Amino acid sequence: QFMTKEEIKAKVAEEKVEFIRVTFTDVLGTIKNVEVPASQLDKVLNNDLMFDGSSIEGFVRINESDMYLYPDLSTFMIFPWATDAHGGKVARLIADVYNKDRTPFAGDPRIALKKAVKRAKDQGFTEFNIGPEPEFFLFKLDEQGKPTMELNDHGSYFDLAPLDSGEDVRREIVLTLEEMGFEVEAAHHEVAAGQHEVDFRYDDALDAADKIQTFKLVVKTIARKNGYYATFMPKPVAGINGSGMHVNMSLFNEEGNAFTGKDDDYLGLSDTALHFLGGVLKHAPALTAIANPTVNSYKRLTPGFEAPVYIAWSASNRSPMVRVPASRGLATRLELRTVDPTTNPYTCLAAILSSGLDGIEQRMEPTASVDKNIYLMDENERKKAGIQNLPDTLLDALEELEEDEVVIDAIGTHIIDKFIEAKRIEYTSYRQFISKWELDNYFMNY
Ligand code: GLU
Ligand code: MG
Ligand code: MG
Repeated sequence: QFMTKEEIKAKVAEEKVEFIRVTFTDVLGTIKNVEVPASQLDKVLNNDLMFDGSSIEGFVRINESDMYLYPDLSTFMIFPWATDAHGGKVARLIADVYNKDRTPFAGDPRIALKKAVKRAKDQGFTEFNIGPEPEFFLFKLDEQGKPTMELNDHGSYFDLAPLDSGEDVRREIVLTLEEMGFEVEAAHHEVAAGQHEVDFRYDDALDAADKIQTFKLVVKTIARKNGYYATFMPKPVAGINGSGMHVNMSLFNEEGNAFTGKDDDYLGLSDTALHFLGGVLKHAPALTAIANPTVNSYKRLTPGFEAPVYIAWSASNRSPMVRVPASRGLATRLELRTVDPTTNPYTCLAAILSSGLDGIEQRMEPTASVDKNIYLMDENERKKAGIQNLPDTLLDALEELEEDEVVIDAIGTHIIDKFIEAKRIEYTSYRQFISKWELDNYFMNY
């Protein structure tokens, strides 16, 4: 809910807030913040808080490093858990990043998403609604408070205590999120041991991206308070399911959900929904670089672990990259299942939206839906059905991204160039590392 500057000032005084954290997200998706004492609140609210952008990943060079933070007043909230030594409270504001000359900074992922949303508005869409399903693992902390590789429990999908020993932590996460204005829809144990999921209600893309960033902070904070380490790494343990962050999405216009078709339409989906889907499938290879931006992401996208491997869609089956959940009416939506929680939610949603809008503009038709379990089809069957593989390494995905003008335009060349540069370095560093698997398999045999 939007608050005016005066209302924020009154709240800070009334609640005895002692510190304000002003946060933003770097090119790689990491949340950053600068904390100021409440005495500096006027400066913050007047967009006069400066910082040195040269030390932030993917921002600017050292000789042009002064930047401003422009807080979005609607993001003001007081952290329910944070109190300083005097019992004072800590509040936060999410900001956009501006250049020294007070123009919006092209390297700010949040601004990139705002631009994509604006393009959708120009095409008559009032909202791009996003319902994320982030999954994560809980590992035990040792006596020194360091994370171990020991999972918090041996539970599986929808298990209850004592198999699920995460229920108290999950409840505390849910209650904290609710205090912070989230509408939590469900929380449950996931398929893998130590794996959990919390789903919150859909929101317009910008709010959803802000919430995803806040969510990660809450999960990590509450987990630690309870003696656990929470990780959003996509595949922390080989041989069991990894963690995804499915993205449920729909476009709304003045009349309501633009994805909802008439009763006799194919699957009850509108042309808009099918064209959007066509666009997402067409740009899938490049989108993968954004949605799955780490070396580890590709260890999740392998057959047999409920994560997608092929560029396909289905109304009934969970093996493809896009699923059409059964609900219709206001809840008609597409579920993109590739995305994992290491993605930068701002650039990711900008890229998905722009791919879908490209599909709508060019009236792209999706490939035929696949209603078999694709994992069980052999290569020939897949070829006949026109099903392509998703890129299977970060390097392949980056090469696809370099060729896709629509996705590059969606995010902007400043961010894309810095992103690709950083990710190529990451991939090279990985390639030069000798893993335990290699030693186990080669050392004694050669
Ligand atoms: N953990 C699975 C993944 O890697 C998803 C399981 C599900 O919620 O369907 O995407
Ligand atoms: Mg799940
Ligand atoms: Mg799902």
